[in-house]
Amino acid sequence: MEKVRIKGGQRFRIAHGVGENDLGVLSSETVGFHPSGTKDFKAKVVVKVGDDVAAGDLLFFNKKNENHRYLSSCSGRVKAIEYGPRRVLEAVVIERSGEAKTSFGSFSPEQVQSLGAEATIAHLVKTGLWSRFLSHPFKRIVPVPGEPAPKDIHGHDLPVPSLIRFHVSFVESEPHLVPTGATLEGNIENALLGLEVLKRTGFDVVAGVSSNTDSKLKSVSGVAYKEVDETLFPAGSAEVQSYFTQPLGAGECVACVDLETLIDIGHVVRTGELRDERTYAVAGEGASKRGHARGPVGLPVATLQSASGVPSGEATSSTDTRLVAGGLLRGKKIDAKHYMGLTETTLNILPEDRERTPFVFFRPGGNRLTTFKLWTSALMKGKEQVATTSNNGEHRGCVQCGQCIKVCPVELMPNLVFKAALAKDIEKMEQLGIRDCTDCGLCTFVCPSKIELGEIVESGKELIVKEG
Ligand code: SF4
Ligand code: SF4
Repeated sequence: MEKVRIKGGQRFRIAHGVGENDLGVLSSETVGFHPSGTKDFKAKVVVKVGDDVAAGDLLFFNKKNENHRYLSSCSGRVKAIEYGPRRVLEAVVIERSGEAKTSFGSFSPEQVQSLGAEATIAHLVKTGLWSRFLSHPFKRIVPVPGEPAPKDIHGHDLPVPSLIRFHVSFVESEPHLVPTGATLEGNIENALLGLEVLKRTGFDVVAGVSSNTDSKLKSVSGVAYKEVDETLFPAGSAEVQSYFTQPLGAGECVACVDLETLIDIGHVVRTGELRDERTYAVAGEGASKRGHARGPVGLPVATLQSASGVPSGEATSSTDTRLVAGGLLRGKKIDAKHYMGLTETTLNILPEDRERTPFVFFRPGGNRLTTFKLWTSALMKGKEQVATTSNNGEHRGCVQCGQCIKVCPVELMPNLVFKAALAKDIEKMEQLGIRDCTDCGLCTFVCPSKIELGEIVESGKELIVKEG
């Protein structure tokens, strides 16, 4: 098996992680489904308040592309349809009841082996699972082979990237995320079947593993394996592993498949029904109980907060807490009244750190989370450091410290890429290799000036997509 050596990256020892605690099974009378900020997704909702739905029924699709479908994974009654600013769909809320299910037809592992590529892709589209494949580098839903090109505002065809492979990672290296072992517990057979189904699409399948990955998952014939060091962030990222597998050519994309989606694929093919389970986790200094739990898809954020020991009423009204869906580096702020997205499984609860620490530079900083040798925490190798939301002061300019270059896993110069992105200089961005950026967030994390490098680089990529 080929070992992948990542040059940059960072090893973290951060306190208040998920740990090994099993918080049991969480339940909720209501769940919410939304497209989780999927780019270029204009939702057309096909249900209305009061409708009864079965598990597997279509809830909404993308007005721009009907292949992008979101289905309900439970049965019940539509309780509310919530929109945010500019009528962006925030959630189709379902009050769970009954056991009504839509069957998509089940396949034995032997039958899967004889599925053709076209039938396999059609099945993934029909069951809404294709909509979960996000392309790297532009984070769009992966184009279904043969579908018409999207149009620009003048009605001209936009370029469609060619899918060259699927990439799955069985390694999680980002701090404060659901441990891979917890997600896979009891789900290995579904994950294996998921890999077989991906192979049947006719595209190459690559899987990132570590020395701790279950041996069954490392022995699927026809899957190319890459072994990474799971103690180094972002070695677990499928995008980073993909870069070291083979960098993408112009007009190419790779489909990154998260573990829950892979398990969902195996489940729907084996049983004919959509899976209604996720492995969630809560972490962060603001949680009194940290650990993982099982619960239904679309769980309210407040339910996870309650599981963490924060009374939900108190937590939803708190302005002293920051809620982040996802890990410490790639997670996004989420509202307490919201619902976890289909691929969002971790809630980080962090105290808002608005106060300035007086004489901060005269303090030893023994538990300070930093990559600089300036603080004593850099010398205390075994000690866990504490993640805070503090920016340590006001907006500052780049001081050319080179930290972002040192850690970038795909050997970019983020300090130059972000300037090209701010200047909207597409040619320069391309020259600097912006398409290789894996959105790992590490440059933003280490930047002493707290420049939102990742966000700015992402805006540069968006400009490239819009300009075609
Ligand atoms: S530019 Fe930043 S976000 Fe992009 S890969 Fe490099 S470190 Fe990660
Ligand atoms: S880490 Fe921040 S301050 Fe340092 S070179 Fe990069 S952008 Fe500039």
